Amino acid sequence: TQFTKAEFVLSAPKLTFCPEDNLPEFCLAGRSNVGKSSIVNALTNQSKLAKTSNVPGKTREMNYFRINDSWYLVDLPGYGYAKVSKKEQQRWGQAMTEYLLKRQQLCLVLIVLDIRHKPHESDLDFMFWLAENAIPFANVFNKADKVGKKHHHDALVSLKELHEEMNIEVPVISISAQKKDGLTDLENLITEFIDD
Ligand code: GDP
Repeated sequence: TQFTKAEFVLSAPKLTFCPEDNLPEFCLAGRSNVGKSSIVNALTNQSKLAKTSNVPGKTREMNYFRINDSWYLVDLPGYGYAKVSKKEQQRWGQAMTEYLLKRQQLCLVLIVLDIRHKPHESDLDFMFWLAENAIPFANVFNKADKVGKKHHHDALVSLKELHEEMNIEVPVISISAQKKDGLTDLENLITEFIDD
């Protein structure tokens, strides 16, 4: 990995709690259990930096990791998890909306999808909302180790069709956080956006 130094900085419940320096940041978004924590760990080559667990939706705050002293990787709480109260979901929705619309140093939202499944309605809603608000995002297909070539190809084709429908260019990367496959592509994508 190019990301040799990685440290946990803080958890923020909303925008006003986010770090105040102006380092560029990248956030990981997606449904609970798609492997966001595993991606943080794989990218930084640390097995326990972000806690992975089988209890979906447990993390309800944005977790900030400073990488190479120069940028932040932010693990956003997973969306589409029903077992929290409506009120909590609303509070989260508002906090996320404010963060995404106002965070100046946000370079790119990485929306993680489980390649085994079609994007969920909550993924589609989120992508359309980001597109409408001109917030740049990329899609990261995770768990690529779980599917064969044909499935992989078909998943890429239908995602590309969706992006065409949205009329935007969206980078797509396939990885396996578990097997540590495809990480270089993700690292290169992040590096490109930092340099822009
Ligand atoms: P999060 O809720 O999005 O942070 O997801 P986690 O990182 O906790 O991962 C959820 C589950 O998916 C865990 O059991 C992981 O071991 C598993 N997982 C994550 N990435 C991969 C992957 O690339 N391949 C496979 N097969 N399993 C994965």
